[in-house]
Amino acid sequence: MKIQMKTPLVEMDGDEMTRIIWQEIKDKLILPFVDLKTEYYDLGLVHRDETEDKVTLDAAEATKRLGVAVKCATITPNKQRMSEYNLKQMWKSPNGTIRAALDGTVFRAPIIIDSIKPAVKNWKKPITIARHAYGDVYKSVDLKTDEPGVAELVFTGKSGKVQKVVVQDMKGSGVLQGAHNLDSSISSFAHACFKFALDSKQDLWFSTKDTIAKVYDGNFKQIFEDIYEKYYKADFEKNGLEYFYTLIDDAVARVIRSEGGYIWACKNYDGDVMSDMVSTAFGSLAMMTSVLVSPDGKYEYEAAHGTVTKHYYKHLKGETTSTNPMATIFAWSGAFKKRGELDNLPDLVAFGEKLEKASLDTLKEGIMTKDLVSLAEGKTTAVNTNEFITEIAKRLAKELA
Ligand code: NAP
Ligand code: MG
Repeated sequence: MKIQMKTPLVEMDGDEMTRIIWQEIKDKLILPFVDLKTEYYDLGLVHRDETEDKVTLDAAEATKRLGVAVKCATITPNKQRMSEYNLKQMWKSPNGTIRAALDGTVFRAPIIIDSIKPAVKNWKKPITIARHAYGDVYKSVDLKTDEPGVAELVFTGKSGKVQKVVVQDMKGSGVLQGAHNLDSSISSFAHACFKFALDSKQDLWFSTKDTIAKVYDGNFKQIFEDIYEKYYKADFEKNGLEYFYTLIDDAVARVIRSEGGYIWACKNYDGDVMSDMVSTAFGSLAMMTSVLVSPDGKYEYEAAHGTVTKHYYKHLKGETTSTNPMATIFAWSGAFKKRGELDNLPDLVAFGEKLEKASLDTLKEGIMTKDLVSLAEGKTTAVNTNEFITEIAKRLAKELA
């Protein structure tokens, strides 16, 4: 008998090579073993265009309602895609839309195997980066002046109260920038981080530069501290977990010396930069998982990479590709584990775990896609996507027997 589900997963299909892999994963690794229940949303660009992007909003609403989603990579349209797909409009990034709807924080963690050594020798466990995804320089304004003058920061409150500071009495031409953040967004970020730390039983580190940005970054630090004391401290202590605040430069030094195994919460810019550094140092973008967590505990699992366009064009020409499906498989396994946990279905949780084990075992035996062969030590066999998934399916069937 197949493994049973209670609540459906929100399934968001996507584009290009990852859409092909999506179907293959379902056909070979899921449908033979699970009586799969999903609410299906086609976020492929063609259907987003047909529905004027309503399908993305519907999928986000479904995630709020059902609680757990799994998403395939999707194209974020640019000028070139406008003509390629003859789009009505340059639709926004689905990830941005979903993130805004769920008010969520993105957690990214590498999938680690013994034969691929991180660039940092002492890293033994994954480092998960939590990036605040609202405001700061990403929602800032700037301007350039060509003469000396006085720059001021002016805030006019709804009450009519005005606050003003001099930014600089500028002796010559130069540039200026105005950035902001909101207490509500910082609070959501903090809640998502503390919840995820408890959920995944990992310590939480948070870093800013509050010695320099005393008011701005100081506000981040204070909000985290207040929320920790009020809502999470007791649970952290009960679970033997630590919440630890430090300056960003100190954090960088500690991260490099650490053996991993914690969550590092970063402001928007720090998270952008540090997540690329950490993922590259761990090996490959194709081995990064990503989960969006809302402050009220809704989860959307996906791969961190894109739709792998170059491989898709080869696929269209009839060539077989060696695209790595690991991160997409782990998006599914993560969703099954979470759904099983919420619905109290131990078999579904175990299925997610066995799917991960079968995938890792395949890699351990040296069977891997081309992108990993160049990174791995020891004896390896390069296979195409299809063969790789078939190898995983064999091992999974044994695990489940
Ligand atoms: P990408 O799809 O991540 O691929 C960039 C390159 O990284 C590939 O050409 C490939 O290198 C390598 N790569 C990435 N994932 C791989 C995998 N699973 N297996 C093997 N190699 C992999 O990024 P992109 O080409 O910049 O973007 C393509 C499309 O994806 C764009 O339309 C973008 O909007 C979208 N995108 C979506 C998301 C999302 O939905 N979360 C995220 C990022 C980008 P080689 O060619 O050298 O083999
Ligand atoms: Mg970046």
